[in-house]
Amino acid sequence: MLSNASLEELLDVVRPLIGEGHVADYIPALANVNPNQLGIAVCLANGDVFTAGDATERFSIQSISKVFALTAALTRFSEDELWTRVGREPSGQAFNSLIQLEFEKGKPRNPFINAGALVVADMLQSRLSAPKQRMLELLRKLANSTDIYIDHDVASSEFEHMARNAAIAYLMKSHGNFNNDVETVLQSYFSYCAINMNCVELATAFSFLAKKGLPCHRNKSLVNERCTRRLNALLATCGLYDESGDFAFRVGMPAKSGVGGGIVAVIPGELTVCVWSPELNESGNSLVGTAALELFSERFGHSIF
Ligand code: GLN
Repeated sequence: MLSNASLEELLDVVRPLIGEGHVADYIPALANVNPNQLGIAVCLANGDVFTAGDATERFSIQSISKVFALTAALTRFSEDELWTRVGREPSGQAFNSLIQLEFEKGKPRNPFINAGALVVADMLQSRLSAPKQRMLELLRKLANSTDIYIDHDVASSEFEHMARNAAIAYLMKSHGNFNNDVETVLQSYFSYCAINMNCVELATAFSFLAKKGLPCHRNKSLVNERCTRRLNALLATCGLYDESGDFAFRVGMPAKSGVGGGIVAVIPGELTVCVWSPELNESGNSLVGTAALELFSERFGHSIF
């Protein structure tokens, strides 16, 4: 049965895997994170939360922010406007790959790889006067927490090492799929990635995806049921980059990962779960986090398949 104690026990099973992965170090400010941290939080559809380990320790959400940015874009643009600029297919490539862009005329494969998220950030930049502030407000609302903030050291560190993301953005601009000043959009994009949240906040913030668009602790839907289904479909097919297939096979939940070591997964109608362990595998997904979710789905019988 799901309880704090059963989650603690689950973490004890996977903890010995710490040491087998590597903390992301291509962003220098992330290289110093203590790799021994491990946390999990489950948020049931009724709002009850179960936790274990370092579930209230905040970390860099990184690419998990791509889900919130896409959701924000879906509430401000028509589907046509959005899907003519970004695709809906798994990429089968690393999260920061630019190889497909040249073949596909600057249209990224999906919104959850860097190229796609940069287009989404470009769209938000066109529509919002203060995009970083709006994103923080959205997350504070969804997570029911006023303490969520941007880690400016991480954002600046990413900006200083922007070469690859800048190359992706300029390549898209050369194909006419990027409207705003590249560095301005990169600043917004890095700030979204550099938001710090903990497992409880992230599981709570994803709850709208388990509840047909209605976030826990709120009485107004963020998006409609159809949109929620579609977001979950994108998470299931593209949420873990070129490991999305293996993740579906092993875990069986729509999910999104980030290079900070967080993964948030959804069982529509039932729950959301966030795990965090900073060491990554070769695809840039949390190694111990994936193992924890695999065990979670096996032990508690949660899979969408
Ligand atoms: N900020 C990171 C980057 O742009 C996000 C990557 C990730 O979490 N996969 O490279």
